[in-house]
Amino acid sequence: MRSGVDKMNLNRRETVIPFIPGDGVGPEIMAATKKVIDHAVARSHSGAVVLRWEELLAGSAAHEAVGEWLPKDTLDTILARGVALKGPLMTPVGGGIRSLNVAIRQALDLYASVRPVRYFEGVPSPVKHPEKMNIVIFRENTEDVYKGVEWRSGSKEVIELLAFLKSRMGVDISADSGIGIKPISRTASKRLIRAAVNHAVKKDLKTVTLVHKGNIMKFTEGAFRDWGYELAKEEFNDLVVTEEQIRTSGESPDGKVLMNDRIADNMFQQILTRPDEYSVLATPNLNGDYLADACAAQIGGLGLAPGANIGENAAVFEAVHGTAPKYAGKDVANPSSLILSGAMMLEHIGLDSSAALVVKSLERVLADGVMTQDLARMKDEKGVGTSAFADAVIAAMG
Ligand code: NAP
Repeated sequence: MRSGVDKMNLNRRETVIPFIPGDGVGPEIMAATKKVIDHAVARSHSGAVVLRWEELLAGSAAHEAVGEWLPKDTLDTILARGVALKGPLMTPVGGGIRSLNVAIRQALDLYASVRPVRYFEGVPSPVKHPEKMNIVIFRENTEDVYKGVEWRSGSKEVIELLAFLKSRMGVDISADSGIGIKPISRTASKRLIRAAVNHAVKKDLKTVTLVHKGNIMKFTEGAFRDWGYELAKEEFNDLVVTEEQIRTSGESPDGKVLMNDRIADNMFQQILTRPDEYSVLATPNLNGDYLADACAAQIGGLGLAPGANIGENAAVFEAVHGTAPKYAGKDVANPSSLILSGAMMLEHIGLDSSAALVVKSLERVLADGVMTQDLARMKDEKGVGTSAFADAVIAAMG
């Protein structure tokens, strides 16, 4: 995976970071995030590293400027730089586009959606022990329902498919059904699970759990699980031990990553009852979509959950929430999700100390009870605005 383009300029290193402000609250949370990140980089590198922000067009801004929602130039620049920070983009209604966010992931083959979910002290939560949640979700980003094909009930395609299924496969499906196809491949499953295991090894995490619905969908979800175990054996024999190996041969994890699997419905129970027994979840697309939000709810909501979409040639870091149009232009949106995504980006391009400073300062501010309205209202408080929150994070850097 490549990082941003660096230029040596005597003793100062300039790193170019493309960014998409986004729609709705996007420009406000992006401005707050850039300010926090610039400050952290300046502070942790004493001015020796400088970020040069390069604005890219996408969404409404692009449509107004060049009549396109997602210009090719934007995608080319992200590929050339290898990295980008992105605000939320609205889905154009009636534009024939399913989602601009999904379009970016697919165009750049950003196959791993990475969502770390951890608790920040002081944040109101709906559960008794939110501090037990510290899980990174690796969700497959290109297949399953993202690549799914659907046909409407009664359409020509469905009539033809039903006839084919009945005559050639002996499968009888009710004539008034809509039909969807959900593909899950060996190649895409393995590369996603490989990324999850590599992350666990690099970060010294205890477990990688394959989450699937293989008891019902044996050749898609069940195959995802089987290919995960196959990968562990083929490529990580020295580093990974499976639950099965422990059960049958009495092998012990002994510093190795434990690979296990859980059926999706059980996993939803586990994240509530025993979240501390899990560190990395590797999931097909749809399971990961549900799980990531369910995990985020336990630590105070989507406002605190960062996200990255990572491929071999580029990585796009983004807030996981949408454009929150009702808050646009009011300086009230929570910028934390984008700030934390920015911290993930800093780590990705090798600025680990800056990333750590951002996270530590955010921790400090939240622990002091400084919060935007979405969190403050759970404590019957009013909260601070987007820019005041960013200023508090900067002040916490010392
Ligand atoms: P949303 O924009 O995430 O907003 C839903 C609700 O979440 C808001 O009404 C607000 O809740 C809360 N919220 C979200 N972000 C917040 C923030 N930064 N600070 C405080 N509260 C926040 O979801 P949506 O209304 O379903 O979608 C709106 C548009 O965003 C759609 O066009 C959708 O396609 C797009 N979208 C984009 C992305 C992306 O770019 N990755 C992701 C999801 C959706 P309360 O009303 O309870 O205060």
